[in-house]
Amino acid sequence: MTAADRIALSEPLLGGNELAYLRECVESNFVSSAGPFVNDFEIKFAERVHSRHAVACASGTAALHVAMRIAGAGPGKLIAVSDFTFIASANAVSYTGADLLLVDSEQQTWNMNTELLYDDVCRRARLGRRIPDIVEVVHVLGHPADIEPLFELRSRFGIRLIEDAAEAHGARWRAGMVEGCQVGTVGDLGCFSFNGNKLITSGSGGMVVSNDAAAARRTRHLVNQAKSSEHGYVHDEIGYNYRMSNIAAAVGLAQLEQLDSFLLRKRTMAEQYDRLLASAPLRRPPRANWASPSHWLYSVLLRGQNNRVADVVHELNERGIQGRRLWPPLHRQRPYESCERLGGVVAEDLYQNGLSLPSSLGITSEEQGRVVTRLCNVLAHDGPQQKHAPESETQP
Ligand SMILES: *Cc1c(COP(=O)(O)O)cnc(C)c1O
Repeated sequence: MTAADRIALSEPLLGGNELAYLRECVESNFVSSAGPFVNDFEIKFAERVHSRHAVACASGTAALHVAMRIAGAGPGKLIAVSDFTFIASANAVSYTGADLLLVDSEQQTWNMNTELLYDDVCRRARLGRRIPDIVEVVHVLGHPADIEPLFELRSRFGIRLIEDAAEAHGARWRAGMVEGCQVGTVGDLGCFSFNGNKLITSGSGGMVVSNDAAAARRTRHLVNQAKSSEHGYVHDEIGYNYRMSNIAAAVGLAQLEQLDSFLLRKRTMAEQYDRLLASAPLRRPPRANWASPSHWLYSVLLRGQNNRVADVVHELNERGIQGRRLWPPLHRQRPYESCERLGGVVAEDLYQNGLSLPSSLGITSEEQGRVVTRLCNVLAHDGPQQKHAPESETQP
């Protein structure tokens, strides 16, 4: 097998104005945080997602951290977070010193079970127990979460709402109170990532969006070391060096110009996998009829396979297919194992049976065919039932 035969999990596609804009950065000498691309990227991103304001940051994690600060997270506060997510969602909370309440997923979309949280908050309020100050809801794998119960929590209890839309650029709701809205724009603040494996990339980067001018102003302040005047080194609180560079914004802007065509490619990829996998012993990814997802990573749950997911992923990788298991729930990660939590069985099932298939923007239907053929071969053959060693130790 040559490197060219390998099918990667998620590679960026850099076929637009990236090189031309990078050339402009070099030729104009604007390579750092001053320069026109940052401003341009922010304005165009805000327009694209229909938010009033957008502030570019160094990463999605930085965006979440600042959003947490703006929403008031800190020592003594309680933040409800999706149990099933990439660990950055939780780390951004922990940086502030706040406590976490981990909320299980629901079956339909794999996102936070917002009904479960709603009922629990009402019960806590009745019993006079501490209720969350903020909910951070993740649009997992690019599928919009069922968000309406969180609006109810906001209006009844004043709980603030932060959306982690790191994987969900351009995803929308298609029904209900938020019909037509894009994810990231209906909470108090929304956060996106432009890491290399996300739908669009700036190399590394993130964005905070908000319709609240004061929140956006304060975000800009905090990402720029809380500098209080244009001239001189005067700072009125402890901020961060979280600005995006002009180089990153140049790439991000060029990628943003292609977002619509990328979303179309992803949808075509997902539909092709749906067809190819129609009779495989697995559950295909969620697609609620009220949602228009970004189809970030096409992920499936094995069914009737006896917890073989580690073996299946390993065997795929041996055959040049870069599959990857889904995240262990936060409650299984060392730093978060003693957090308070609601449920956890669904998140556990997602981890025990879930894997993502190669989902690069440039994947061809021939490559998808090869992925599915190899996956079905692996599933058909029972495989050794012995306990699996860590992947790095099982390379031939
Ligand atoms: C990628 C990701 C982040 C973090 O973004 P970075 O740009 O890598 O810092 C946060 N939350 C989720 C759900 C993500 O997938």
